[in-house]
Amino acid sequence: MSHTTTMSTTDPLPIRIGISRCLLGEKVRYDGGHKRDRFLADTLGRHVEWVPVCPEVEAGLGTPREAMRLVGPPEAPRLLTVKSGLDHTHMMERFSHHRVRELDAMDLSGYVFKQGSPSCGIERVRVYTEQGLPARNGVGLFARIFQEQFPLVPVEEEGRLTDPAIRDNFLERVFSYARWRELQRHRLTRQGLVDFHRRHKFLLLAHSRPHYEKLGQLVGNASLHRPTDLAHAYASLFMQALQVRATVRKHVNVLQHMVGFFKPRLSAAERDELQEVLKDYHQGLTPLVVPLTLVKHYIRHLDIGYLADQVYLNPHPKELMLRNHL
Ligand code: SF4
Repeated sequence: MSHTTTMSTTDPLPIRIGISRCLLGEKVRYDGGHKRDRFLADTLGRHVEWVPVCPEVEAGLGTPREAMRLVGPPEAPRLLTVKSGLDHTHMMERFSHHRVRELDAMDLSGYVFKQGSPSCGIERVRVYTEQGLPARNGVGLFARIFQEQFPLVPVEEEGRLTDPAIRDNFLERVFSYARWRELQRHRLTRQGLVDFHRRHKFLLLAHSRPHYEKLGQLVGNASLHRPTDLAHAYASLFMQALQVRATVRKHVNVLQHMVGFFKPRLSAAERDELQEVLKDYHQGLTPLVVPLTLVKHYIRHLDIGYLADQVYLNPHPKELMLRNHL
């Protein structure tokens, strides 16, 4: 997907993700080059609408341009050109505040930043002391202002997304945040929230049972809160929960829990086969997609209504094949 189309208010919003423009192959880097990322540009690009941003070019610095770096205290560094020492801090901050206000209207569900960049990196960006000594503890100026403006929007760097677990987690968060935004687009009702929470039950359990339980208390006491406070509290706890790493053990627990809903209806041979498949996954002999496919088969075949719409079963488009590598 690439361009916005005319939509009615009932159409679901496209999944829009911000991205450092150079990652899509555009020659906007200081040296006139790009950093095209094949997974992002070719594979993920078929399922989302990219919103490309190059803060340095859009702020008026040309291509090619003198390289820049962060200098000073890591919590408030200046953005200086490497050779001539020109200070672009104020200009970049002003531009960034303006650009994030524009991005607010785009309803982003995530952002992929270019790692290491003094404008776009989100962690471990080199910051130099006045004496020229580097430490990897900074955040790019645009990336910092973006995250201050959108604390709930999932962010990642392209380098970390080569790790299958990080990639799966990031996209789970992106698609979950998009569902949450969709829910909020239409007036958030108590019933809507109850249903959202129920559909995300097993996904949440695969990450963090304590968060799932706290969210359940929030939903159970919904009438005690003002709607905007409730939405804010639920959203931040929900996004925090999904950041907790889902482990093999937690996935096995979730799958066993689901199996409990239909186990009595299976033959002894089917039960044995299912346990064998779960054991293989637990021992690292097969990826998550194998037990998951079998569980999904039984849910469909036996028509287990309570489980059929669980987001855990399909948290992101299956064509991305993210669970073939977990
Ligand atoms: S890292 Fe950011 S500022 Fe640098 S070229 Fe890429 S998009 Fe532009």
